Amino acid sequence: MRINKYFSIINPFDAHALEEALRLKERYGFKVVALSMGPPGAEMTLRKALALGADDVVLLSDRAFGGADTLATSMVLTSAIRMLAETDELAMVICGKQTIDGDTAQVGPGIATRLKCAQLTSVDRIESVDVEHKRIRVRCKFEERYEVLDSSLPAMIAVLREINRPRYPSVPMRLMSLDARVKTWDNGVLKLSENVIGLKGSATSVRRIFSPDRPPGQILDGESIADPDEAARMLLEKLVGRNVISTQ
Ligand SMILES: Cc1cc2nc3c(=O)[nH]c(=O)nc-3n(C[C@H](O)[C@H](O)[C@H](O)COP(=O)(O)OP(=O)(O)OC[C@H]3O[C@@H](n4cnc5c(N)ncnc54)[C@H](O)[C@@H]3O)c2cc1C
Repeated sequence: MRINKYFSIINPFDAHALEEALRLKERYGFKVVALSMGPPGAEMTLRKALALGADDVVLLSDRAFGGADTLATSMVLTSAIRMLAETDELAMVICGKQTIDGDTAQVGPGIATRLKCAQLTSVDRIESVDVEHKRIRVRCKFEERYEVLDSSLPAMIAVLREINRPRYPSVPMRLMSLDARVKTWDNGVLKLSENVIGLKGSATSVRRIFSPDRPPGQILDGESIADPDEAARMLLEKLVGRNVISTQ
């Protein structure tokens, strides 16, 4: 689960991932563990996951993890997942499709690659889970088509927002989550080489972030133009003039 660093919220896609995990828990009896790699402040957001119904949460936090790109991020997350899988059999890793800051959609597939398990991306519906035979059927949504895929478990599933509508926490669960203990694992627990984590373990670095140049816009609103028909006529003229639409 990724915490958005600017607003300290659960990354919106991850709210849907958590909701789906909770629904699978209710239906099939899975245990849900929410993981986040982030600064100590991410703890409050993991408490929200507990309030919503996660059975356990783990914050992966260490200065040595800082500055990680998607390669180093998926390395740390995979290591923690492997550690959790020593005590509870791993059925699936559910991620959001992407974050709303980095936006790369690489971390989920990065985890699957390192776990050497199937990766099911752009999932908008989990059709069924066969717990006994360790199989899952999902529906993936692409631009002009849907695909229904059968896969073995464990698998990494990256979900779209359309998959569900996240629930709200109840007041008693919120109160419980404030007193709960949030496990924090640093690299003393994971014991990863410094060459594969943080800045040192990152193959890429963000050099510059900037907005593309756009021509200045004009607002055709009711205050500058009294007549809505006149505003519509002006808009049409501009769109035709710039070849955005054609009158043919
Ligand atoms: C503007 C910007 C641009 C960037 N560009 C690049 C780039 O080009 N290449 C690059 O390698 N890195 C890049 N990064 C760094 C990248 O954001 C971090 O590695 C980040 O920790 C995870 O990547 P993501 O945001 O792209 O996640 P995504 O791959 O978009 O996330 C997919 C899913 O993976 C899970 N996930 C991701 N991060 C975490 C986490 N920390 N804890 C728990 N679950 C998680 C979540 O379920 C999430 O929904 C960029 C960061 C910023 C802010």
